[in-house]
Amino acid sequence: MKVLIVGSGGREHVIAWKISQSPKVSKIYCAPGNAGIAEVAECVPIGAMEFDRLAAFAKEKEIDLTVIGMDDPLVGGIVDVFEKEGLRVFGPRKNAAILEGSKAFSKDLMKKYHIPTAAYETFEDPEKALAYLETAKMPIVLKASGLALGKGVLICQNLEEAKAGVREIMMDRKFGDAGNQMVIEEFMTGREVSVLSFVDGKIVKTMASAQDHKRAKDGDQGLNTGGMGNFSPSPFYTEEVDAFCKKYIYQPTVDAMAAEGRPFKGVIFFGLMLTPEGPKVLEYNARFGDPEAQVVLPRMKNDIVEVFEACIDGTLDQVDLQFSDDACVCVVLASDGYPVKYEKGFPITGLEKFKDADGYYCFHAGTKFDAEGRVVTNGGRVLGITALGKDLREARANAYKAVEWVQFDNKYMRHDIGKAIDEK
Ligand code: AMP
Repeated sequence: MKVLIVGSGGREHVIAWKISQSPKVSKIYCAPGNAGIAEVAECVPIGAMEFDRLAAFAKEKEIDLTVIGMDDPLVGGIVDVFEKEGLRVFGPRKNAAILEGSKAFSKDLMKKYHIPTAAYETFEDPEKALAYLETAKMPIVLKASGLALGKGVLICQNLEEAKAGVREIMMDRKFGDAGNQMVIEEFMTGREVSVLSFVDGKIVKTMASAQDHKRAKDGDQGLNTGGMGNFSPSPFYTEEVDAFCKKYIYQPTVDAMAAEGRPFKGVIFFGLMLTPEGPKVLEYNARFGDPEAQVVLPRMKNDIVEVFEACIDGTLDQVDLQFSDDACVCVVLASDGYPVKYEKGFPITGLEKFKDADGYYCFHAGTKFDAEGRVVTNGGRVLGITALGKDLREARANAYKAVEWVQFDNKYMRHDIGKAIDEK
């Protein structure tokens, strides 16, 4: 089989690596890819939003399966374009990717189908939003409804901050069109857990749980980022929580999408808050999380290509998803200054140390080859150093050992990723 992957981050690297282990696959392409993905795939210089060029490439190369990693092309309808051309593609159609593309849609869906989530109101008129805030309980959460690179959420402690937030999102349009609509929701407290799942339009099968570290600095301080590292499984995701979520959140979400005439095929990422009243949905994503995929896929025992095909064919009931008992930790090596201002273009050394190191992985996020063919930094998040271990403590020790193998100027990381609660 020939497979094309669309995307260029650490998530697409781990997907490419996992696909490369399938005995069914003879050739992998990735558009546009990065320097790490180039180890397992042929990178093609076509952007993820160039749907027609991508489809033409898939036809020309007789690609058997295309896997879409990123949210933007999914929400933009890349799957519909590929299907129209008779191409086989893994990911939700546009009318299902709206689950991530519009928070107003997903909140209304949850309300209609009684899926537990924070109480909320939706606004299109900033004046109405400002008036609503006058009587609302603080703290409160403001969300730009559309895609905003994971940054369109503001947690406001008081009325003044909340009013400023409404102005930022809806009037100053800080997140562009994503702020045409806004969700204002109740502030929830509790532990956050992410659960990735495969969905075939009818049924859902969950992968392992993971826990993210979104803030830039140790001790969960500093600005929000795309993620500075994470670990799997989460010690808070107990069997009891799993049973509750299966019954009241996962399958009901898939059933709701089908009932709305928007059958979802692909990956649903459930962002959950374990509140004192029980688990509630924080958000849905319509694809693998990044870096959640980096800690979940190394633990997966199945041939991922078979699972992708089962999702497309609606035969996921026949798949027995299996994960190893290992724990996995991913520490992101970033460029100092991320997520605000940082320099790029520094050569990275030591990458070869991962070649024969079993259970250690170096997934590339922002890297490229320079004119001399050296691998150089090319983004805020540069590498995801990932390691397995028999438990969280061991996986963490392994990951922090491996972060020393690679060097580049302005290398920055957090030191407390996967730190067990009793170690804090
Ligand atoms: P989202 O993109 O909706 O997951 O929001 C990003 C982050 O904001 C989440 O991971 C939470 O840390 C926080 N957040 C979002 N919604 C709420 C809420 N209703 N209550 C408390 N924190 C929230």
